[in-house]
Amino acid sequence: MEYLKTISILGSTGSIGTQALEIAKKHNIRVIGVAAKSNVDLLIKQAKEFECRYVCIYDEDKLDTLKAAFEGTDVKIYSGMNGLCMMAVLNEADIILNSVVGMVGLQPTLFAIEAGKDIALANKETLVAGGQIVTEAAKRKGVTIYPVDSEHSAIFQCLQGNDRKQLSKIILTASGGPFYKKTKDELREVSIEQALNHPNWAMGKKITIDSATLMNKGLEFIEAIWLFDLKPEQIEIIVQRESVIHSAVEYNDHSVIAQMGVPDMKIPIQYALLYPERVDCPTKPLSLADYGTLSFGKPDFDTFDCLSACIKAITMGGAMPAMVNGANEEAVAQFLAGNISFLSIGELVMSVTNEMENCPINNLDDVLRVDKAAREFVKNKISQNVVR
Ligand code: NDP
Ligand code: MG
Repeated sequence: MEYLKTISILGSTGSIGTQALEIAKKHNIRVIGVAAKSNVDLLIKQAKEFECRYVCIYDEDKLDTLKAAFEGTDVKIYSGMNGLCMMAVLNEADIILNSVVGMVGLQPTLFAIEAGKDIALANKETLVAGGQIVTEAAKRKGVTIYPVDSEHSAIFQCLQGNDRKQLSKIILTASGGPFYKKTKDELREVSIEQALNHPNWAMGKKITIDSATLMNKGLEFIEAIWLFDLKPEQIEIIVQRESVIHSAVEYNDHSVIAQMGVPDMKIPIQYALLYPERVDCPTKPLSLADYGTLSFGKPDFDTFDCLSACIKAITMGGAMPAMVNGANEEAVAQFLAGNISFLSIGELVMSVTNEMENCPINNLDDVLRVDKAAREFVKNKISQNVVR
């Protein structure tokens, strides 16, 4: 059978990964490899259904279960970080979908680039923590990074057919999350369940919390800078409550081109995988009449510390973006474990920009080192009861 494309998916069992598999099924895309962290049962099911030739489980203690499931077959089994990196360089793959969560995706991204593989990138933490080394390597190797994040896919789409040099600014849209218009006082007692309840999108837990703190928009601000070679002052963040306008680009003539669609990640996932094709997507078409009105607003930088901290971090440059990202990953995990309050996430992330020393980033080891330091910084603050 002739396949349209061959892909390898890092993070196949997650929200993005499973939607990508749906696209693959619909469009005759060969899925040569799948990788997950610990959900070995779903991973095995996926690998069997898609007749994958390579399967990777990150958690070593699940390796035996994975091996047993494919005993007597010629399916190649991998594990750990080495395995994840192997999945990023598979010879047969035309494109690697990196949809793991967290900056653990950075090393595989760099491996894919060195192997000359184009990347469909959902894993935004990769670009936040390692933006400089990733974009430099991609340029050197002539590798294309196709954005999967809906806002960046929108910007990428709005750039098509226009002269990049005539761009004046990017309008990065934000839903505002579940706590739009809330004050800090009102956010003091937010529960995990409330923070996990996003108005427009169903996503993995980490990004759902990031959407509630607006860290997600801060990460996306940094992601946009690296993907589209922008300066911080060229990005305006606008709240678009319904998540119908996924972002827009303004050109020198003040013409603004936006991309719209229902809030469904399958559209940007498919565009990244099949670029430049525009074929039927397994999602609802947009009915503007059903929406009736679209509402807009300004983000509240004072209440949502994470957003301000990210903008400050990218303006400071160097290791600061990697440090705020690392601190946030740790803080979100601690919030989800019930150890700290919702507002503490923002306090911790902001305190990184005030208290940690910045330094330049030259390579992967530098990123890994400052990421670790930021996580330690957060853990120390929590153990010293500096935050509640
Ligand atoms: P999920 O938590 O739903 O899924 C994460 C996936 O990554 C799972 O398959 C998980 O495996 C896997 N994974 C996590 N850590 C590792 C590891 N160390 N090694 C191998 N696999 C790993 O997250 P989402 O799909 O929501 O998000 C993925 C990325 O995409 C994030 O960076 C997020 O910010 C970004 N994104 C997501 C959007 C969405 O709508 N969900 C929208 C835009 C961007 P397991 O199941 O075994 O834990
Ligand atoms: Mg997004």
